Amino acid sequence: MNLNILCLYPNIMDLYGDNGNIEILKYRCNKRNIEVNIDTYTINQEEPQFSKYDLIFLGGGSDKEQRVVAKDILKYKKQIENSIKKGTFYLLICGGFQLFGKYYKDSEGNILEGLGIFNYYTESSLNKQKRCIGNIIIESKINEETLKIVGFENHGGQTFDVETPFGKVIYGNGNKFEDQNEGIMIKNVIGTYLHGPLLSKNPELTDYIIKYCLERKYNKSIFLKELDDTFENQAKKEILNRLLTKANV
Ligand code: GLN
Repeated sequence: MNLNILCLYPNIMDLYGDNGNIEILKYRCNKRNIEVNIDTYTINQEEPQFSKYDLIFLGGGSDKEQRVVAKDILKYKKQIENSIKKGTFYLLICGGFQLFGKYYKDSEGNILEGLGIFNYYTESSLNKQKRCIGNIIIESKINEETLKIVGFENHGGQTFDVETPFGKVIYGNGNKFEDQNEGIMIKNVIGTYLHGPLLSKNPELTDYIIKYCLERKYNKSIFLKELDDTFENQAKKEILNRLLTKANV
């Protein structure tokens, strides 16, 4: 079995090591003898064939980087829309998540047109100090199970009108200052403010994505071999204990 992954603008959109998410996907697949082919696309390269991929990834970026990418990615609106309709999985982090909405108003007041795949929109304050920064924990329903997902957020953008959030915030801010909701999730798209890298800190989520992609590709139920996650689970438990005790949740 194999998976084809496309990483969009990895040289521009890679805040807090977001591309590490791809490394984790590859690592957990390889441990199960699933081959992973990773292609990249960035500005001035040939148009990628979006629908040939099982998973497409876009990381976060500063306002300056988002300005560059926003213009380029609009060229592929139709192709992206079609591949989402066909079920390709999209993982979008922070600045990448923002660009899939209607627009992003950055901290200088520029309006960057988004892909408009979803109805949410994001606006930053003109006061650059006003940012949601810090560790974050959300609860998300993955495979009918409520999971705690941990990460780190740093965004000026406040995202409004998300219809189907990725999770409920139990520590941190989320889509806006002190929001209850975080990110967006539909069956084959997760957009989130959680850097981490997200997938290294949350192995169950990585496996959910791998399973989704394989089941779609091979059109059958897939049971992933269990991996030894003692270290990952311990690290997660540690951060949950530390933050939730502090917050008295
Ligand atoms: N530049 C965007 C913001 O500040 C996204 C930041 C990010 O990707 N961490 O909201």
